[in-house]
Amino acid sequence: MPKIRKTPARMCVACKQMRPKRELVRVVRTLAGEVTVDPTGKVSGRGAYVCPTVSCIETGVREGRLQHALEVTVPDVLEGDLRRVAEAAAAVRAGAEGPRVIRIPAGGRPPRA
Ligand SMILES: [Zn+2]
Repeated sequence: MPKIRKTPARMCVACKQMRPKRELVRVVRTLAGEVTVDPTGKVSGRGAYVCPTVSCIETGVREGRLQHALEVTVPDVLEGDLRRVAEAAAAVRAGAEGPRVIRIPAGGRPPRA
């Protein structure tokens, strides 16, 4: 019998779209009551998910969506942390698709494609 591997889906607290868990950024309220970004998705506690996009991060933090989902006050610094994690995730994806930057030798011309 073929085993169907189901990708767990989660909903972004900002745009309410269901997306595969791994495409979202997890924010967790730890057992100690601390709110932190969880890039590994393995921290235990109450979790909420947001798309790694500036608009969803802003909506999630500024409009209190994460606060509501986690039932705890979200620190302002979380927005910056989320942006950094989202940028890092975007960089990893870009790296997987090949380098974006074409190196131009000093004083030289760009290499022919
Ligand atoms: Zn979203």
